[in-house]
Amino acid sequence: RPVVIFLAAFITVVIIIMVAISVVQYKPLQQKCKYGIVLDAGSSHTSVFIYEWPAEKENNTGMVRQKHTCNVKGKGISSYSDNPNGAGTSLHECMQEAKQKIPTHRHHETPVYLGATAGMRLLKMENEEASEKVLDSVEHSLKSYPFSYQGARIITGQEEGAFGWITVNYLSENLRKPTGTLGALDLGGASTQITFVPQQDIESHDNSINFRLYGNDYHLYTHSFLCYGKDQVLKLSMAKKLESTLENMAEPTELRDPCFHPGYNLTRNVQSVFNTPCMKEVKMANENFFHVGLGIWSQCQQSIRKVFNTSYCPYSRCSFNGVFQPSVDGHFGAFSAFFFVMDFLNLTSDTLEGAKKKLATYCSTPWKKITENHPYIKEKYLSEYCFSATYILTLLEDGYKFTSDNWKDISFIKKIGDSDAGWTLGYMLNLTNMIPAEAPDMPLMPHG
Ligand code: AMP
Repeated sequence: RPVVIFLAAFITVVIIIMVAISVVQYKPLQQKCKYGIVLDAGSSHTSVFIYEWPAEKENNTGMVRQKHTCNVKGKGISSYSDNPNGAGTSLHECMQEAKQKIPTHRHHETPVYLGATAGMRLLKMENEEASEKVLDSVEHSLKSYPFSYQGARIITGQEEGAFGWITVNYLSENLRKPTGTLGALDLGGASTQITFVPQQDIESHDNSINFRLYGNDYHLYTHSFLCYGKDQVLKLSMAKKLESTLENMAEPTELRDPCFHPGYNLTRNVQSVFNTPCMKEVKMANENFFHVGLGIWSQCQQSIRKVFNTSYCPYSRCSFNGVFQPSVDGHFGAFSAFFFVMDFLNLTSDTLEGAKKKLATYCSTPWKKITENHPYIKEKYLSEYCFSATYILTLLEDGYKFTSDNWKDISFIKKIGDSDAGWTLGYMLNLTNMIPAEAPDMPLMPHG
């Protein structure tokens, strides 16, 4: 009997030792990773993106992934024009978080880039000195962390479009393959970008970008419409309505708006609508008005159409405002606010006609019911979804000339895999030379 017990105990010990050895043996070696940080200083907010990739595989497609994002509290950096120091300070919490997320021994070699987009383009137009002070402030702040500071600048609309295109095609692993590429549609608060490989010649030099990536040539069409982000278009279309209302009305003024829900009523200031370089200064009293919702989708769309000038085109074809655009071709990824809005309204997999029908019903829903149904959504976003979605459908159909037939070629996306669709990843891949062309040591700056 003792022999049996001894044997059983012996076998158990041997099994435990063997299992322990196999666990130790097969424990994957800790992957050596490198990191990069890009700050997207948008018009309404700043996001910090941390990217990670295996140290030995820098030039392979699909290797870089988004490790972490942090949303900076408060508004975008362009809102700090009266208090530039506040712009730098606002980044502190997210940069501290970055210090936690990236292993300490990698800090000094981790590049940090800040790219500011249309909010800062507008501030620069309005007050160049203020925009420089804001950039100095974020530069000063970013240099105070242990990372390798690489610069803070306002990127051009062309770069924003091109790097958004690189991001989505890098993540979808379309580069280096003979398969087609994905067009990129980006909607922010102050600008919107369209970028794709067209079937026809590009008639305007400003809209043409050539890349050589992994040995393939890409001839891209891109355009960024400054002032056609959703917040600026809201101002533009409210201003148009206000101007016509004010002409006919005695005070106190009421703006009856088909793009806001019935029962919505907010007191606003005239200056808060006109305070943008996207409109010429109008001589209007600094007075309040009642912004009253009507919730009539067809009238809302009519009012939004007025922000697109389609009366002239100096090329064979145009989108709007006299801008050349070849006909849209292939599949598109529509991200940022295109996604936020269409996803909130559950319109991402509808036909164009289906989306219009659902949206008309949504717009006519009383404001009280909307707020009851969504108690946790910011009221500003909530009140604007009817307007924003109507703008999106109108921009895509009347502006870019998508049709019911090719509507299915637009995918409303937030992420591809782990990584957000947006210009930041493409920007970092370019500046760190991670997508080799033929001369891998040359950064791939867009050129006409
Ligand atoms: P930007 O700050 O220029 O990148 O623009 C982002 C746009 O998306 C702004 O118009 C924001 O108001 C808007 N936005 C961000 N998050 C949401 C959301 N969850 N729902 C609706 N709009 C959003």
